Amino acid sequence: MKIISTARSMQQLSQSWRRKGETIGLVPTMGALHRGHITLVEKARRENDRVIVSIYVNPTQFGPKEDFTKYPRPRQVDLALCRAAGVDAVLCPASLYPEDFSTWVEEVTVSKGRCARTRPTHFRGVTTVVLKLFNAALPDRAYFGRKDAQQVDVITRMVRDLDVPVKIVPVNIVRDSDGLALSSRNRYLSLEQRKQALALPRLLRQAVSQKQPEAWLRKALSRAPGLKLDYVELANGRLCAAVYVGRTRLIDNRAV
Ligand code: AMP
Repeated sequence: MKIISTARSMQQLSQSWRRKGETIGLVPTMGALHRGHITLVEKARRENDRVIVSIYVNPTQFGPKEDFTKYPRPRQVDLALCRAAGVDAVLCPASLYPEDFSTWVEEVTVSKGRCARTRPTHFRGVTTVVLKLFNAALPDRAYFGRKDAQQVDVITRMVRDLDVPVKIVPVNIVRDSDGLALSSRNRYLSLEQRKQALALPRLLRQAVSQKQPEAWLRKALSRAPGLKLDYVELANGRLCAAVYVGRTRLIDNRAV
């Protein structure tokens, strides 16, 4: 498995694969890998000759008061997981931005509402870094989890609008046995908070069979002990919700 630290050297490796006619699947991540990420990698492994995982905690998608500095970075464990999953190359750059970086990719419609209410600059950071990662890895296909439903919607729109020659492959949410969607941020939860957090997947599951799922879920989550409601929103056929458990923000969604 190759470990690559610059966009330029990633391009050179991907170009050499493409010249041989090999297809490339990219799985963009921020690391602290879990079974959700590995499910994306496994799908990419089945569908492509070469698999690249990028591990990069992208500063431009974090707000000033968010967890950028304390975001977990267990690099050696992540590399071992990638090796075990048969990844060909891991792109883990120290930085992707020149000091005087001044070019942004901004999607302005799908990036409104839902997570953008509390994270107004988040998706501009996501679209910008994802296009940069595409330009580095030159993938045929890129894999994104439906856990971040709005992210899938925004990236799909960006790729369509800008004629980016990459197929976006959405992957279903991977959950723990108790129902909580796997997330790198779950490790911030205390035992007590984790129990409280389970109301999110449970109420979401109940909500989708109600007559007015959005209103029902909003009310139910507002009453759930230990949770502070961020939003409930029906978008693109999915009921999406975000809550705070203590200072940890969790998101989840279900098809309706
Ligand atoms: P992250 O490292 O949190 O930026 O996530 C990297 C990719 O993994 C994103 O496309 C996420 O949507 C996806 N992902 C994270 N958690 C899950 C999960 N529980 N199920 C499916 N995909 C996930």
